[in-house]
Amino acid sequence: MTVRTRFAPSPTGFQHIGGFRTAMYAWLLAKQHGGQFLLRIEDTDRERLVPGAIKYLVDSLHWLGIDYDEGPNQEQLNSIDEFSEFAPITAGKVGPYIQSERLSIYQNEVERLISEGKAYRCDCTSERLEIERLEQMARRERPGYSGYCRTRNLPAGEKTVVRFRLPDQIKLSLNDAVRGIINWDNPPLRDPVILKSDGFPTYHLASVVDDHYMGITHVLRGEEWLPTTPIHILLYEAFGWEKPVFVHLSHILGPDGKKLSKRHGADALTQYEEQGILPEALLNYVSLIGWSVGSGDEQEVFTREELIQKFSLEGLNSSGGVFDPVKLQWMNGVYLRSLSPEKFTELAEKYITSCPAKSWEIIAPHVQERIKTLPEISENIEFLCINDLPREMTAIFNKNVDKDIAKKVVDVVGKKFASVETFSVESIHKALEEVVAESGLKTGQVFPVVRIAVTGKKATPPLSESIMALGKEKTIQRLNEMPALIEAYQD
Ligand code: GLU
Repeated sequence: MTVRTRFAPSPTGFQHIGGFRTAMYAWLLAKQHGGQFLLRIEDTDRERLVPGAIKYLVDSLHWLGIDYDEGPNQEQLNSIDEFSEFAPITAGKVGPYIQSERLSIYQNEVERLISEGKAYRCDCTSERLEIERLEQMARRERPGYSGYCRTRNLPAGEKTVVRFRLPDQIKLSLNDAVRGIINWDNPPLRDPVILKSDGFPTYHLASVVDDHYMGITHVLRGEEWLPTTPIHILLYEAFGWEKPVFVHLSHILGPDGKKLSKRHGADALTQYEEQGILPEALLNYVSLIGWSVGSGDEQEVFTREELIQKFSLEGLNSSGGVFDPVKLQWMNGVYLRSLSPEKFTELAEKYITSCPAKSWEIIAPHVQERIKTLPEISENIEFLCINDLPREMTAIFNKNVDKDIAKKVVDVVGKKFASVETFSVESIHKALEEVVAESGLKTGQVFPVVRIAVTGKKATPPLSESIMALGKEKTIQRLNEMPALIEAYQD
């Protein structure tokens, strides 16, 4: 089976992960079948175009690693905005892939419908339509276009639009890949505008014409398009074209069960990048919102190849999936831990500029082990990067540690470290254990005080490794700074 899918965003804003999940599924399906995934820019709503939106879409797909097989090429994109170089797109044969460059195709199809009596020109002004609407409401009728121009046979004119003539009785049935059989019995639809007076098509017409001529076999899109799908089905019938498989995806919900909003996760993709989320982790996590392998399989972490292999339309959920930012962070941690030391250091670059290279080398594996997002690197290595270390002094004191004990700890540990000839993780650890054995102080008194003295914080990478990364001289200096700080401390 040839599979051709597409992602058809409108550059009217900055899509959140919901839109990109649609792209992911369409891409996975095409890749799985050795087919093609297309990017088509639906820029027909000229009033709502948002500058920068196309660049955002293309760059985000690229960041996620969703490469399209056919779509606008570099040259076309560069005429719109400044794009960084990307792998050349195989010139598809069914372009252009930007709808504003396909106007004559839509206009020809519309002429065909008009000549067959399936569409007609309409010059009703917005004032007239408004009066109609008010009258309908007064008569308690369903508001919508009355069909006034259906029989007027208007010629083309500056102010005319073209409407699609819907049957008077609509009875339709569709087998949606996610929702099963859907029946429509006279849905609340009236002759929709398919070509506007500026010569641009509306979404319904452009989408059907393009999906047909681009050979799209599976249309994956959000469930918000379901109520107007009858228009698409009727357009396919009017044109005498075979329909694609429709796959209406459920919405992504926030943790509160409501539609995803800015409050919980509906960020533009660039924000995830800034938050230190890896594209692989985002791709993996988001693909699981609304899809599962099924048959009791608990697998959650999938490589890109596994996703391509295991994705199936049958595994899509017809109810909304919940976006859980905590789970995304967990998954990001899993991906971070799986990176090679070199790759981890490469990604860490912008957070480690003021950390001495040798210290980073020692501490990196321990940081990699404990973080969930990249910016957490900074707080984990702060003690290695600054001289004037702030300390969480309150964390030192408890029922087992008072000022005298704390001073004793830093004193004996300082002396002990001074006597250690060569610092190694083992010799540091041994020295701390000897302090406990020899001084009468308890582990629970020694370690927490030393940790605050050296790193400033309660939660840090393992202590001996942190001390090793800081080095003997600085460690002893930090211990020596403590008595004055302990003395000055007031709860
Ligand atoms: N341009 C539409 C949107 O952005 C595409 C819907 C579809 O995939 O058919 O939602």
